[in-house]
Amino acid sequence: MQNGSGKEILVVEDEPRIAKLISDGLIAAGLKVRVCGDGEEALQLTTAHKFAAAVLDIMLPGRDGLSVLRELRKRSDGLPVILLTARGGLEDRLTGLDAGADDYLTKPFSVEELVARLRALWRRVEGKAPVVRQHEDVTLDLVTHKVVRAGQPVELTGREYDLLELLMRSPGRVFTRTELCEQVWDYHFDPGTNVVDVCIQRLRRKLDDGHDEKLIRTVRGVGYSLKAG
Ligand code: CA
Repeated sequence: MQNGSGKEILVVEDEPRIAKLISDGLIAAGLKVRVCGDGEEALQLTTAHKFAAAVLDIMLPGRDGLSVLRELRKRSDGLPVILLTARGGLEDRLTGLDAGADDYLTKPFSVEELVARLRALWRRVEGKAPVVRQHEDVTLDLVTHKVVRAGQPVELTGREYDLLELLMRSPGRVFTRTELCEQVWDYHFDPGTNVVDVCIQRLRRKLDDGHDEKLIRTVRGVGYSLKAG
């Protein structure tokens, strides 16, 4: 399998010949492509759909690429963007990077180079996201959801995992039952229910039993926390 296969790229370019060239090259590299030739439409598409990256031409009719990029960043959209600039457009390139472009290519360019730049971009983005979370002797794999304590696998249900993952984000912080309920079960806390306490008990049994160090702490009358290191 090629790196990045199956990812969908938004190509914003109004010249059909260039758009097709890019699109064909990306598809040949195993990527999916959505082409649009208009800045406003590009903004609508990125609202409705999550793309793996956008290839954004600066010269577009109506709303140009730089304006699209600024709007994306104003919305805090972290969509990776590669700008396409005209030869000699140094000012555009600088403005583009300043406006939040991740990279740029100067026309004419080879599609192979574009693909290589996209892959480099994803490696950078993925490198920033943590893959495991560690606290004391517990390791959470955030991709596979495998949990290990002191080298031994801990089998958790989905809810138990979510609960532990939340507690492990801030060891020492006390989470109220309301917070846990709303974040893990995604519904409003009903003071009459003991769903949180039951799940904590099961998690505690699986995680702490047989270990001298008990990680899950009850804060009487308030909620629960993970023992800080
Ligand atoms: Ca253009």
